[in-house]
Amino acid sequence: MAGIYVHIPFCRKACHYCDFHFSTSLKTKDNVLNGIQLEALQRKESLADQEIKTIYLGGGTPSLLKSNELKDILNAIYVHYSVSPKPEITLEANPEDITDAVVKNWIKLGINRLSIGVQSFNEDILSWMNRSHNSTQAALSVKIAQDAGISNISIDLIYGVPHRTHADWMNELKSAVDLNTPHISAYCLTIEPETVFGKKAVKGEVLASPNSASSVEFITLVDNLKDAGIHFYEVSNFSKFGFESRHNSNYWNRADYIGLGPGAHSFIDGTRSWNVSNNALYATGLKKGTLISQSETLSNIDNYNEYIMTNLRRREGINPKLITAHYGVTLSQSFKDILTRYEASKDLLIAENSIKLTQNGFLLADRIASDLFLTHD
Ligand code: SF4
Repeated sequence: MAGIYVHIPFCRKACHYCDFHFSTSLKTKDNVLNGIQLEALQRKESLADQEIKTIYLGGGTPSLLKSNELKDILNAIYVHYSVSPKPEITLEANPEDITDAVVKNWIKLGINRLSIGVQSFNEDILSWMNRSHNSTQAALSVKIAQDAGISNISIDLIYGVPHRTHADWMNELKSAVDLNTPHISAYCLTIEPETVFGKKAVKGEVLASPNSASSVEFITLVDNLKDAGIHFYEVSNFSKFGFESRHNSNYWNRADYIGLGPGAHSFIDGTRSWNVSNNALYATGLKKGTLISQSETLSNIDNYNEYIMTNLRRREGINPKLITAHYGVTLSQSFKDILTRYEASKDLLIAENSIKLTQNGFLLADRIASDLFLTHD
């Protein structure tokens, strides 16, 4: 099973928390889209013997592309790769781009899953984050997409917003659940240094939410979604059974994938590579026949650490026997004290075939994972 990710690095506005690679200028758009098609051709041998089961059009804001632009990208993938008869094809869409006619065009292109960047239903929070949609569009866009014929929809939410009251968060969750989507992704707001919030934080104009408040919002989120039949399956992802993201599960299962577009990452046969995060350089390079990228072959320690990082965050947890078989590490010997400590503090559940985070443990997922990392000598 292999997947293809396509990074569309353009947005209408810069959200104040975002540190992804994107540009609000569209002047390189045509060249970048040509570059993506050239890259699809140039790299076709890397997945020549694999069936593509998932395609993910992410960004940036891929929903700002015209239908014929999306069609050209998908055509390039279908021409150069062996795509399975029933692939999961996801498009990240911003609420303001969603109309009945547009969604119907997306369906004609084969897009069968939408990830809608709602983030919040609260007008003040959307404006504070500099989102390009308002609260009415947030909810209406989901209904329009459902009525137009796409039922496999995920919405993104952000928790850990400073100064949000518990009542406001409960209202946000009610609005989300009422939309009856089968999947919700929820991310904790982090203040990254190179973002607008990061620069404001240096001047004391933005303060991150205290960990304790973010933790309460996370626990409320898990409990409310569970009551609505939307189950936690990864630290940022919740779904009704059968609606887990196949594309993301592919990443976590460490299957091969290629990422097309500026800044996109790929993982093939134990080698990770990443394209230059500069739209003009990316496009010019491909026009001259060169993909500007860097790569590293992962060592056994890197592979082990990545397995711990991604799988500890999943409902199934990590498998000690698999770890010994694949990476030659016996957790009960190498990390005995750490495991005993987190089991005693009720952050880990330890069984013969699995080590899982408890609900409390999920709040410490990154710290526990890093405590189980191996270091290069
Ligand atoms: S729309 Fe998405 S990618 Fe673009 S700036 Fe906002 S969060 Fe970042």
